[in-house]
Amino acid sequence: MPKFIVVAGGVMSGVGKGVTTASIGKILQEHGYKVTAIKIDPYLNYDAGTLRPTEHGEVWVTDDGGEIDQDLGTYERFLNEDIPKRNNITTGQVYKTVIDRERQGEYLGQTVQFIPHIPDEIKKRIKKASDSHDFVLIEVGGTIGDYENIPFLFALKSLEREVGKQSLSYFLVTYLPIPSHIEEMKTKPTQQAIRLLSESGIFPDFIICRAKKALDIPRKKKIETYANIASEHVISEPDIDTVYQIPLDLEKEKLGEKLLREFGMKSRRSPDWSNWEKLVQNILNPKKKIRVAIVGKYIEIGDYALADSYLSINQSLLHAGASLNTGVEITWLDSKMFEDSKKSVNELKDYDGIIVPGGFGSSGVEGKILAASYARVKKIPYLGLCYGLQLAVIEFARNVCGLGDAHTTEVAPKTKNPVIDVQPAQKEILEKSMYGGTMRLGAYASILKEKTQVLKLYEETGRLREDAVRIQELMKDKSHAFRIGLLEKGKKVVLERHRHRYEVNPKYIELLEKNRLVFSGYYTRFDKTKLMEYIELPGHPFLIGTQAHPEFKSRLGNPSPIFYGFVKACGK
Ligand code: GLN
Repeated sequence: MPKFIVVAGGVMSGVGKGVTTASIGKILQEHGYKVTAIKIDPYLNYDAGTLRPTEHGEVWVTDDGGEIDQDLGTYERFLNEDIPKRNNITTGQVYKTVIDRERQGEYLGQTVQFIPHIPDEIKKRIKKASDSHDFVLIEVGGTIGDYENIPFLFALKSLEREVGKQSLSYFLVTYLPIPSHIEEMKTKPTQQAIRLLSESGIFPDFIICRAKKALDIPRKKKIETYANIASEHVISEPDIDTVYQIPLDLEKEKLGEKLLREFGMKSRRSPDWSNWEKLVQNILNPKKKIRVAIVGKYIEIGDYALADSYLSINQSLLHAGASLNTGVEITWLDSKMFEDSKKSVNELKDYDGIIVPGGFGSSGVEGKILAASYARVKKIPYLGLCYGLQLAVIEFARNVCGLGDAHTTEVAPKTKNPVIDVQPAQKEILEKSMYGGTMRLGAYASILKEKTQVLKLYEETGRLREDAVRIQELMKDKSHAFRIGLLEKGKKVVLERHRHRYEVNPKYIELLEKNRLVFSGYYTRFDKTKLMEYIELPGHPFLIGTQAHPEFKSRLGNPSPIFYGFVKACGK
C-alpha cells in the first residue's frame, strides 16, 4: 500500500503548487523511494485538449496520448519519470464515468448521488494511478474554498479513513503577501486558508509558506499557534531564481527527514544532490551565453501568456543549457512581422539559433517559412518542431527543389504540390469532422538511419539506450503496439511524443532526397506506410526538424538529445 501526500493550495493560485509538489516528490526519490504524482483538475473539460493554450498554458502530451494540464510536465521534468494520462483526474472524467455507468444500468436501480458515487469514483481513479509506487503525491488544483474542490476534498478525507491517517499526509501551500505600503509580511490570509481547509475536516501536517522573502521566527510561531502544528512543520519557500532550487531549499529545512518521520519511515539511502546542485549552478551562472529566437504565433496575446504557451520549449532549452553550462536567452518573435516587411527577417542575424515551434493553421506561416529559409541560407542553427519541420520541408521544396507552389494542405487545400498532407486513411475521418480521432498523439517509435546527426545525438546523450528499455515496457501492453509499429532487425529505435495531423507526403520524398535533404528517421505503420520523423541537412551546422515534440521528454539532468544538439551548435 503506497503512502499518500495531498497538496492543496491556499490564498491564491499561481504560487507554485505544482513545482512544490514536484519538489517534494524529487526529495522522496532522492531518499530512495519510488514516487508518482497525480494532478486533480476540478474543471468540467474531460482533458486539456480543447483548452486554449494562451489562457491555460501549453497542452502537455503524455506517452499514452493524453492531452493534459502542464503540471504533469512539471512532475516529469523533476522526477524524470514518464507519467501516464490516468494521473490527471478532472471533474469531467469523474462525472462522465458515473453517468455512463448509470446509463448502462450498472447501478442496478440505485439512486445515483453525489455521495457516495462521485467520491468513490475519485478514489478508484487515485488508487489505479497509485499502484507499484511507495509514495503518491496528489495535487488538488485551484484554491481551498473553491466550490469545485469540495468533491475532491471529500474523497481525500474518505481515502484517509480507508488507509489510516498514518498513511496520508496533508500539505498546504500558502502565500504570505508583503503589502508595499506597510512592508510587513502578513499571515492572516494563511490563517484563513487553514480555517477553510478545516471546514472539510482537513488539518495540514505541513504548511509551505511561499513569499517574496523567507519566513521569520515570529511568523512561524504565529502560524504554529493558529494551525496547531509544530513550527518545524511550517516550511519557508521564498522566491528564487530558478524553480530547480526548490528541492534544495526544502531539503535545507530537512523536509525529507521530517516527512519520512511523519510516516514512521527512514531514508533508504542518503541523498546525493551534487549533480542537481551543479546543474542549478550552471543555470544561475552559466559559463557561456547564447541567444535564441523562437519564431512563433501567439505574440499578440501578451508576453506572459506567450511564454507559458511554449513552456516546455523554454524548459528544454534550460535543461540542455544546464548540461552544457550554457545560458540561453530566448526572444519571442512574431512570424507575421517578417511577412509585413520582408526586410525584417534580417533581424534574425543577431541570433545564435532559430526555433520554429509547433502550431496549427495559416496565421504567420509564410513568416515562419521565411525564417526557415534564412536559417538554411545563412547557416544559422535551426530547430523545427512539428510544424517547424513541415514548414522547413516546404521551404526546401520551394527554394531548392524548384516547386514554387509547394505547401501543406492544412493551409492550401488545393495546392498542386502538397508536400505536407494528411494520410488517406485520416482524410475520411476528417471529412466527417471527427477531428478528435485524426491526431497522431503520444509516443511513437522512430527508426534512425546510421551515420545521421540525429542518431549521433541520441547515442551521445544516452537516450538511445534509455528508449530501448522504454520500448520494451510499452510493448508489454498490446494496446500500445501501434506506437512501435513495424521494426527492422538490428536497427536503432527511439521514442518521442507527437501531437499533429499532417505528414510529409511520401510522393515527394525521392525528390527531396535527391536534392540532399536527409530523412534521418521514420516510423512504419502496420500497413507498411512510412511516416517521416526527422530531417537534417548535411553541410549545414545544424538544420534539424522533427515531426515529434521532443520538448515533452526533456528533464533536468536528462535533456532532450535534439535540444542538446541545438544548444551545442548555437554555442559554436
Ligand atoms: N499543424 C500541423 C499538423 O497538424 C503541426 C502540428 C503541430 O505543430 N503540433 O500536423
